[in-house]
Amino acid sequence: MNDIDALRQDVATANRILERFGLSHAFGHASARIPGTNTFLLPTRRSPGLAEASDLLVIDTEGRLVSGDGEPNSEFWIHARMYAAREDVGGVVHAHPPACVCLTGIGEPHRVVHNQGAIFAGGVPEYSRIGLIRTRELGDLLAGVIGAGRAAMMRGHGITTAFADVRSATVAACYLEESAALQLRMLSAAGGDAARLREYTREESLALADQITGSVAGRAWEYLSGVARVAPLGSSRPAQLQP
Ligand SMILES: [Zn+2]
Repeated sequence: MNDIDALRQDVATANRILERFGLSHAFGHASARIPGTNTFLLPTRRSPGLAEASDLLVIDTEGRLVSGDGEPNSEFWIHARMYAAREDVGGVVHAHPPACVCLTGIGEPHRVVHNQGAIFAGGVPEYSRIGLIRTRELGDLLAGVIGAGRAAMMRGHGITTAFADVRSATVAACYLEESAALQLRMLSAAGGDAARLREYTREESLALADQITGSVAGRAWEYLSGVARVAPLGSSRPAQLQP
């Protein structure tokens, strides 16, 4: 398998992971930059659980379809403008995970409350405008909110993660949903009093911020992709990547 075929396989697997682990159902999408170019691989307009390596489209950062058959997902501008804004980004995930949406619904920022959540030690800013990202301008706005960071919460909508490669962006999206779910449970157990959460200090978080690289991320990807290969479509389960 050559590099581009391997990348296509990764993108298809990443999309299937989003559906299998309940981060998205009919909607949501993962993409990967074709290295050294201003183009990226994105599925056609259907559930990420139905993504196929052979059906991916090639789109450029201006939103133009370069190759492939079919219509892209309508929020392709998220990917196009993220890659335009950041040369270091090689993988982007956009999904609608419920716990993250719940946090935005109660105006609660993401807090680091467990080890995997510490990869977001730099904070997860919120894109507060509701609705879908269906224009170049809104794509630029979202990319601006993410800035040099790793992710954004999108109020009433979902999340977007931006990493060096699609595997990391996908594992990180799962971690963010797991983190948000734990935060909600802790908040509930504490009677809604956020002051009672034993949030990690900045120093504690930073010490674990690299848990998205190397063998840790590799092991997470191995597990997620393994489940995505064998689980039947629609058998969504809570994203719980317990260490
Ligand atoms: Zn969306």
